[in-house]
Parts: sequence; structure tokens; C-alpha cells
Amino acid sequence: MTRTDRPTGTRTTPRCEVLISGASIAGPALAFWLNRYGYAVTVVEKAPTLRGGGYPVDVRGTAVDVVARMGILPRLRDAHIDLRRLTFLEGDGSEVASLHPHDVTGGAAGRDLEVRRGDLSDALYAAVRDDVEFMFGDSVDTLEQSGHGVDVTFRRGGRRTFDMVFGADGLHSSTRETLFGLEEQFHHYLGHCFAVFTMSNTFKLSHETVMWNAPGRAAALYAVGDDEVHAFLNFAHPEPPFDAFRDPEAQRELVASVFADAGWEVPGMLAALRDADDLFFDAVGQIRMPRWSSGRVALVGDAAYAPSFLTGQGTSLALVGAYMLAGSLAHRDHVTGFAAYEHGTREFVTMNQALVGKGGATLFPTTPQVLEERNNRLRELSALPSAGGRPADSAFTLPEFTPRT
Ligand SMILES: Cc1cc2nc3c(=O)[nH]c(=O)nc-3n(C[C@H](O)[C@H](O)[C@H](O)COP(=O)(O)OP(=O)(O)OC[C@H]3O[C@@H](n4cnc5c(N)ncnc54)[C@H](O)[C@@H]3O)c2cc1C
Repeated sequence: MTRTDRPTGTRTTPRCEVLISGASIAGPALAFWLNRYGYAVTVVEKAPTLRGGGYPVDVRGTAVDVVARMGILPRLRDAHIDLRRLTFLEGDGSEVASLHPHDVTGGAAGRDLEVRRGDLSDALYAAVRDDVEFMFGDSVDTLEQSGHGVDVTFRRGGRRTFDMVFGADGLHSSTRETLFGLEEQFHHYLGHCFAVFTMSNTFKLSHETVMWNAPGRAAALYAVGDDEVHAFLNFAHPEPPFDAFRDPEAQRELVASVFADAGWEVPGMLAALRDADDLFFDAVGQIRMPRWSSGRVALVGDAAYAPSFLTGQGTSLALVGAYMLAGSLAHRDHVTGFAAYEHGTREFVTMNQALVGKGGATLFPTTPQVLEERNNRLRELSALPSAGGRPADSAFTLPEFTPRT
């Protein structure tokens, strides 16, 4: 069988057909690069449309090179939030220190973009939507590997066979569960849960974040400069609240009970939480796996190696991982390609996952003593000149991959 290729109309030999599950960050980025290397790509996303919302995300270091090579860097520079100030507050609402965000997150000017998660997802989608088939409002039902390919059935009906399948379906990946078994084996819970949602900016904040801390609890307002602020509530919780994960009402109740006696602006935040229609709630955790592929199926982004937002590197790892996975398959079959992907990417992933301890200790101290020590460090930091970026963000130079001829 031959197929007619859009948009040039040239006749080519059959292209490898691949399926990607998940259209957030890793999925569209992988689709972009696989399409560039000659694959016929289908993306299935369970949400009915591309999902907006979520806390702003960082694209840092090596990941900036990925988006530059995709041609979307100018658009992301336009969308850059340019946060100017990060202010920490005591439990009684008084100020601890006010710093430039890079002093806390380790970002470096020009190598650190902060954008709304939806803006990044939109930019990635816009870069591929004309060349790739998207199936919204559907998901993989069954997936069976045979010698010649992967037989997939879809929830909304239909059966197709692909040469390879990729799970870009996030921290709670069902591709991972089908392939490797229960999430508990790979999810390293870091002892916190968080809720983010938007609320009206009645605080007159602009391009800044204000964070309130009490031992084991944090509340933050992040103003990107418009009418809304991103509200963030984080709390220590001994076990992951499994009952709450699929139940937004249970999530609201849990958060409201944990913060019931909190001061500062928290009561207003809890009131807004009750009505928020874009609540994103999750446990803070990392996915650590000995292998990222099995047979003709591979995982990418949070599905394979979520580092948690405490590292600030989830989005950057998803972008770099997608680039490496596709590039590793540019001239190789799935066996050698998947091995090359792991070989080329694992060290970078491990180095970035290791940033987690630092992030947790800075943002969410759990005891009064550790909180006091943290606050003293912040006061000292505010008196020092700004430092540069973290080595782990840029610890990797992207290889060049060339398209098949
Ligand atoms: C709406 C939204 C809001 C977010 N907000 C935050 C936040 O505030 N803070 C934070 O730290 N991280 C947040 N994240 C996660 C963050 O985007 C990722 O940590 C990071 O960018 C890596 O991206 P990823 O593409 O690997 O995974 P994700 O961004 O998690 O994307 C996974 C995608 O797969 C889709 N999906 C899931 N299961 C299936 C399935 N069975 N079939 C088909 N599609 C499926 C999801 O709908 C989603 O679009 C959010 C993600 C989403 C989707």
C-alpha cells in the first residue's frame, strides 16, 4: 500500500503509524518530532478539548533549546509571565522576605520561561495540529501487543493497529498501568497534597507571588498580571488520599478541613475553592521506574518520570524527553530506539528528580523549627545579590537528529 502525503502530494512508502495517549505537554511535543521524522501520528486525549488551566509552568535550560528548535520560542517569550517578586509571609501574615523569584527557584534570566500551562499546551498543539490526527474525548480501552504491532481498541469504539504506542498520559498514566501494573509500585509519595484553582484578583497583585506558611501548610496567590490570580493550597498529609483523587467534592472537603483555622487570605481562598470550576488537585510525588518501555510501547513525560512540582522541572523533562524519544527513533526500530532513549535521557532525569529535597524544604517546611530556619535563610538571601541558574536545568546538550530520507 502507498499513501499520499499531505501537504506536498508526493507518494511515499507506507509510514510507520504510531499512537500517542495524552495531549498536554509531552504528547504534542512527541507528536511534533515524530511527525518531523516521518511517522504518521495519531494523538488520543480523553478530555473533550485541549485542556487549559493549571498553575504556570517553567520551561528551563535544555528545554528552552527544545522549544527553540520547534520554532515556538518567540510565541512563548511573548507569553512569558515575567514574575517580579516572591514574598514570603509568617503565619500571622507579616512579611518574612521579598525576593526575586530566581533567587528561590534557581532560574536564570533568558534560560527560564514561565508561562501559563494552557499557553504552552496551545503553542505545542498549534505547531502540530495540521500534520497530526487528534482524537479528543476518547481513550485507549485495550492494548495488546503482537509480533507485528499493537492492537488498540478505543473507548468510543473502533479498533486499529499501530507500529508503536506512547503513553504521555501524565502522573496517573493508564498506559503505564496496562503495561507495568499498579501505580503504587512507581509512585514515590512526597508527603504533601495540593490544590490549584483560579480566583478573582481582588488583592491588586501584579506579576508577583505571595506565599503564606505555617508548619505543614502553605497558601499562595500567584498574579500573572490580569484579573485573575492562581490560588494554591499545599498541605502535609501522611498518606496519599486515594479516596479523594477521583472525587472533586472530597478534594474540596479535605482542603477546607485542613485549612479551617488558617489566617491571612485563606478563608477567602476556601470560599473561592467551593465555586472553582478549574480545580486541579493531586498528591506531590515522583514516578521512578527501572524501564520506560515494554515491547512496542514507551512512556514519556510525567507518565515515565514525573519529578513533582517541587523541582519545577516536570514540564522541562516532558519536553526534553519527547525530543529524545522521537530523535532516538529517527533512524532506529523500536528495540534499539527505546534503548537509545533511555540511555540518552536517564541521567538528566535522575539529576532533576534529585532536586526535590531542596524544593520541599524551601517551600513547605513541616515543623516550626524547620520553618524558622527556612525563614532565616530567606532573610539572609534577600540581603545577597542574585545567583545564576541551577546546573541540573542545563546539564544536557541536545543532540541533533536528522529526519529519515
Ligand atoms: C489541566 C492540567 C492542569 C495541571 N496543573 C498543574 C499544576 O497546577 N501544577 C502541577 O505541578 N502540574 C500540573 N499539571 C501537570 C503538568 O502539566 C505536568 O506535570 C507536566 O507539564 C508534564 O506534562 P505531561 O504531558 O507529561 O503530563 P500532563 O500534563 O499531566 O498531561 C497528561 C495528559 O494526558 C491526558 N490523559 C490522562 N489519561 C488519559 C487517558 N487514559 N487517555 C487519554 N488521555 C489521557 C490528560 O487529560 C492530559 O491532557 C497539570 C496538568 C493538566 C492536564
